Order: sequence, then C-alpha cells, then structure tokens
Amino acid sequence: MPKRDLYSILGVPVGADLETIKTAYRRLARQVHPDAGREPDPARFREVHDAYTELSSAARRRSHQIDLDRVRRASRPVEEIKAGVRIRIIDDFRSVAPSPGEILDHIAHNFFGFRRKSGGPHRRLELEIVLSREEAEAGGRLPFAVPCYVACASCGGAGSWPWGVCPRCRGYGMVEAARRVELDIPPGIRSGSRFELLLDSIGLTNLLLDVTVLVA
Ligand SMILES: [Zn+2]
Repeated sequence: MPKRDLYSILGVPVGADLETIKTAYRRLARQVHPDAGREPDPARFREVHDAYTELSSAARRRSHQIDLDRVRRASRPVEEIKAGVRIRIIDDFRSVAPSPGEILDHIAHNFFGFRRKSGGPHRRLELEIVLSREEAEAGGRLPFAVPCYVACASCGGAGSWPWGVCPRCRGYGMVEAARRVELDIPPGIRSGSRFELLLDSIGLTNLLLDVTVLVA
C-alpha cells in the first residue's frame, strides 16, 4: 500500500511526526479497538494498527539521530520515554470522565478551597498511554503535564491592585500553570499494566492518576 494511503488511514498529514501519529492512533484505538473501543470494529482496528506500526517506525527512524543527541545531552539516570514528552492529562485525554472542566474544578479545590477547606473527595482519573514495543522493552521515565495553580505574577497573589481587581487572575490571586510529574516504567513492561500515580508532590491531594500502559 502506498505510504500516502497509510497516512490517510490515520487521518494525519503525509510526513507527520511521531507525536502526531501516536496521538491519532490513540484516538482511533479508543474508538474502534475490538475489546475496549466505543465502536468496536476489528477490521478497521487492524487497518489502523498496521498503518500505525509502519508509519511510527518510519518516523522514529527519521528522528533517531536527534533523539540520540538529546539523550546524550540530558545525561539522565533513566532515559525519558519519548511518547510522554507532550502528555497533558487534560488536553490529551478529552474523554476524561466526568469532563475536563470538572476535573479542572476538582484540581482547583486544592488551591482555592472554594467551598470547603479540604480538596474534596478523592478522585481517580483513568488514563491510557500507548508505547511502542521498543519503548516498552527499554522502559524509562514518562513525564506528564498536570494542570496546577500558582500565585499570579501580576498581583503577587493578592488578587487586586490598588485601583481594582487584577485582570490576569480575575481576583483569584492564582493562575493556571502546568506541573510535571514522572512515572518510571520498568523495562519489559507488559501491555495492560497499571500504575497509580499520587500527585501530592505537586500539591494535589485529591487526585490519583490511574495509568494503563498499552504496548502497540
Ligand atoms: Zn493577579
């Protein structure tokens, strides 16, 4: 099959980079996966999976040299898994339940205490990530970007200026920011493995990430 058709199966531009290909695959897999999809379609899933396998390895070959350079410079004790570099728990998982807006509100409780002093009931947020076979074999560190709130730089957290409410934070004294949390994936991980990631270290006491790792 011509490469061009493989790209159109995933609905991405010809020559798309690895991140774009993976994101498209995750979205389609959630839809048509025979066991776990919203609209199971084994034939369509096989087509999508084959396209993903071929295009992702091509994209990986293209970026191989760049990846090597970056790893050498970073000199981390554990190598970072590329798939996770841009995982943002709200943006990348639009299907989060009950809804991204409610999860953001829930997160905000930790910082503002809108209705009660505590962060509210503990909530579990289920996420799925897809690793390539190579990434799963090697293991490594998977970073997630999690929404948080930090003191507003315009008003220093006061929420107001002498002449009125701070327009940047609208009087809350805090603004949304992203904090990074990391999950260490052991080498040789199996598809379907689950991890619980506590977020206390970034000030979220009421949210737990329940991460399922799928191996493509
Ligand atoms: Zn402000």
